[in-house]
Amino acid sequence: MTKQSVDRAVFDNVMVPNYNPQQMVPVRGRGSRIWDQDDNEYIDFAGGIAVTALGHSHPALVNTLKEQAENLWHLSNVFTNEPALRLAQKLTAATFADKVFFCNSGGEANEAAFKLARKYSYDNFGPQKHEIISFEQSFHGRSLFTVSVGGQKKYREGFEPVPAGITHLPFNDIEALKAAISERTCAVVMEPIQGEGGIINADPAFVKAARELCDEHNALLVFDEIQTGVGRTGSLYTYQQLGVTPDILTTAKALGGGFPIGAMLTTDKCAGSLNFGTHGSTYGGNPLACAVAEVVIDHINQPELLEGVNAKRKLFVDGLDAINAKYGIFQDTRGLGLLIGVELIEKWQGKAALFMAAAREQGLMMLVAGPKVLRMAPSLIIPDEDIALGLEKLDAAISKVLASEA
Ligand SMILES: *Cc1c(COP(=O)(O)O)cnc(C)c1O
Repeated sequence: MTKQSVDRAVFDNVMVPNYNPQQMVPVRGRGSRIWDQDDNEYIDFAGGIAVTALGHSHPALVNTLKEQAENLWHLSNVFTNEPALRLAQKLTAATFADKVFFCNSGGEANEAAFKLARKYSYDNFGPQKHEIISFEQSFHGRSLFTVSVGGQKKYREGFEPVPAGITHLPFNDIEALKAAISERTCAVVMEPIQGEGGIINADPAFVKAARELCDEHNALLVFDEIQTGVGRTGSLYTYQQLGVTPDILTTAKALGGGFPIGAMLTTDKCAGSLNFGTHGSTYGGNPLACAVAEVVIDHINQPELLEGVNAKRKLFVDGLDAINAKYGIFQDTRGLGLLIGVELIEKWQGKAALFMAAAREQGLMMLVAGPKVLRMAPSLIIPDEDIALGLEKLDAAISKVLASEA
């Protein structure tokens, strides 16, 4: 069968308009380069939104996927399978966790985490201990429970009534957390770096205080590491460099390197509350996804790779500083490792998307995090020469935007 030819215009005809993709259609990727239908080349600083952590079509992932595809695709959770068992062993060996629940996305991992937090508190302390504390600007997914825990009102508006018992506090505000946490709190939920909210780092003192307050009030500390995990910040998970251990951690995005998978990690103490029949997912623990994720973890959880993340961050930060010395349009550089956010100066706030579009015209894919922050989340093994070339393209894009808006 020959495939029908399609282009970007088809999107508007047959897709629900919840996205507004860029005008070109990418067809091929290798490492940190992408080509579109017209064979234009792009440098990829976006990494599929912190997903393709080993770049595009990494040979080890391609081989694993092909090999698994020849053997076993799917069973359901009526049976377990070797890739899922191996991946769970690796994740528990590499982290605080004793137990793993597999699913297919970040939102689903958070859904499981929030349900577990409620169920654990219900089992051990009773139904009144159900309140979840979360933070303003946070992002935890698009299901009804996860948009409710998320701290961005625009994602809830029009979908009410939403689940009750959720409070949003200012991020990094120890006093506000002290005042709000109580015996009714079942969980405090945070991203170690707020991603969608604008690349806002959690203050280490705040994280430590949250851990202590959770302990005092028998509440669980939940880390959403969906964007910050799997080597992104220079350690396998970011909690490992904050000196604080959560009770539940969610991971997805880079875990499959581009193949859909999510996981919730937790301790023996909590895991028992998701006893037989309490939660589930048809595809969770799918052999194709777990086989790929196992190889992702093998490649990323290596000292040389993780050190490389910090070395590459330096190339980005130095390059961004040089660009800023020329144009003076950034006022802050945030994030850790290869999760990089630069905040635009007041004059350009609200216009981040303009720079993203200009970059694309120069052959550079990047991201924004809200209206005033440019975001980069490239492959953790992006070649240094691709970083240099991408930064040249960013420089050209910024110069064009400034010229056109002058
Ligand atoms: C992307 C993201 C999610 C949602 O993940 P999906 O796979 O899109 O459901 C949740 N939390 C954080 C911090 C994220 O960055």
